[in-house]
Amino acid sequence: MNAYVDQADPYPDVRMADFDWGVRNGVVGWAQCPDTNTGTGGDRAAGTGWCRGQHLRFNAYYYWHYSGVFDTATQRRQIACHETGHTVGLRHRNTLDSCMYTNAGEGAAATLDAHDRGHINGHY
Ligand SMILES: [Zn+2]
Repeated sequence: MNAYVDQADPYPDVRMADFDWGVRNGVVGWAQCPDTNTGTGGDRAAGTGWCRGQHLRFNAYYYWHYSGVFDTATQRRQIACHETGHTVGLRHRNTLDSCMYTNAGEGAAATLDAHDRGHINGHY
């Protein structure tokens, strides 16, 4: 997976932003397919859904400023891995071996495991 900064690209696959969204939604990040998407496909319920032009929003301030719980480089990597995983169709898992563990940052790995990589390689 490659990521790069190209603010001139009007149709990116994923648009990432970190912002102080406040405490109102209670999450540190989320991926969303906006109405302005440039294409969708697959079957979301089956875990194969995709969306071009997704918005990935990090709410770093939520934990780092309001609770201080998630304030290590490892935890930040875990959250970035988790939310980026959602943008390529990965869903929550029930294992701490993967950053896709349901509760981002709670002791889970900061990387994808072989199971996750298999799903990505199967989709793309
Ligand atoms: Zn999630």
